[in-house]
Amino acid sequence: MQSVMRTVRMMEPNQDGRFQCPHEMCSNTFTIRNNIYQHYKASHLGVKVPCRKCDSSFKDYNAMNKHMKTCNGKKVIYFEKNSEIIRNYF
Ligand SMILES: [Zn+2]
Ligand SMILES: [Zn+2]
Repeated sequence: MQSVMRTVRMMEPNQDGRFQCPHEMCSNTFTIRNNIYQHYKASHLGVKVPCRKCDSSFKDYNAMNKHMKTCNGKKVIYFEKNSEIIRNYF
């Protein structure tokens, strides 16, 4: 990972102004240089971001946050039931 970070830091953008992933088998490109680190860790080093409510894990924080909004973890079900009770009560 250290050498990858150095490679990315020294990297020049291509003709389209994009940065290419330094992994030899990978052709992903990024408009923001720093996005390569997150992509590299998730796709080539297998680092996962776990959900705080359930057992799911995700390739990056964006995917995890997106999942969190619709996650059916115990807490979400509890609050959904609660608001239903309140609606029926009034
Ligand atoms: Zn890659
Ligand atoms: Zn979840």
